[in-house]
Amino acid sequence: PLVLGIETSCDETGIGIVRGSTLLANVISSSMDEHARYGGVVPEVAARAHLEALVPALQAALAEADVTLDELDAIAVTSGPGLSGALMVGVGAAKALAVSLDKPLYAVNHLVGHVGADVLDSPSTGSGTGPLEYPTVALLVSGGHTSLLLVRDLVSDVELLGETIDDAAGEAFDKVARLLGLPYPGGPEIDRVAVGGDPKAIRFPRGLSQQKDMEKHRYDFSFSGLKTAVARWVEQTRDAGDEVPLADVAASFRESVADILITKAIAACHDHGIPRLLLGGGVVANARVRELAAERCAAEGIELRIPPLSLCTDNGAMIAALGAQLIIAGHAPSTLDFGADSTLPATVIQA
Ligand code: ATP
Ligand code: MG
Ligand code: FE
Repeated sequence: PLVLGIETSCDETGIGIVRGSTLLANVISSSMDEHARYGGVVPEVAARAHLEALVPALQAALAEADVTLDELDAIAVTSGPGLSGALMVGVGAAKALAVSLDKPLYAVNHLVGHVGADVLDSPSTGSGTGPLEYPTVALLVSGGHTSLLLVRDLVSDVELLGETIDDAAGEAFDKVARLLGLPYPGGPEIDRVAVGGDPKAIRFPRGLSQQKDMEKHRYDFSFSGLKTAVARWVEQTRDAGDEVPLADVAASFRESVADILITKAIAACHDHGIPRLLLGGGVVANARVRELAAERCAAEGIELRIPPLSLCTDNGAMIAALGAQLIIAGHAPSTLDFGADSTLPATVIQA
């Protein structure tokens, strides 16, 4: 089926078009620059930017895919989780299009959409080839989420194994970058500064990794203690009149995040006897996260899948892809009474 996907859960206005598992267009307009001076995504600014970007992005996507609105078989939209005001713009636009064009509408889960990105037949950079097999463990890490999922079936069976109990991993990158005096978004800056740094220079804590955490929080994450530890270390160094070794701090911090993310993801694979791990979300751009995932998965015989970065960060193509899979599996469209749901649980694949 030819499906249009609309994604507006955070700061990316994403319009994607797919035919089955073939990617035809993936247009992304980000309001990241507008949030830069605030050091994080401002919900109202994001919502307004979606309003402005939606129609031009839609037109660009239709042109890129060389299709018309009339030719579409269905529309898919992210209904949650995400920022309420931002989600509402996409949901409103999707309903308007569906009603005016008389097309079926699928309201889908953003997190499951990240997994759906892997369905698209564009070359992934992990060790996996061919279609994604199930079950798989999926680690989704971005500015808003750090979630570990067990996906038994993309369109019918997703379990949330764990998630962050405080900051998201990307948020930790952004906050630590800020305290080091680096611009927003912090992830790419930390990556840049960490080059040449010694990842073992400072032993920063790995959140929720101690024996006592293992029962209740085996697959959960925590990054606020790490952020505080970096802040304290930097402060003490400055107080002592020493210069802060930026490269070492960045490399050591990055090592801590990458280590705990990959350790827990691989533990989930082992515990459930699943030799597959899929990564998604903007933090997957991190050089050390990718490297460590590749090393450890290879050592453990786990197939690693990383969609191309343009499909790892928020985008509309992944939403269209999930919509197409729902159609192929025979799922009925959503009824129009759904709304934006900022806390939609990962287990609810279609609203
Ligand atoms: P959502 O949580 O809804 O998916 P988001 O906009 O926060 O939304 P993305 O756009 O996927 O998610 O990712 C942005 C985040 O990824 C930011 O926090 C940014 O710092 C982080 N990031 C980007 N590049 C890197 C990198 N090289 N290393 C670490 N983090 C990175
Ligand atoms: Mg974003
Ligand atoms: Fe996302």
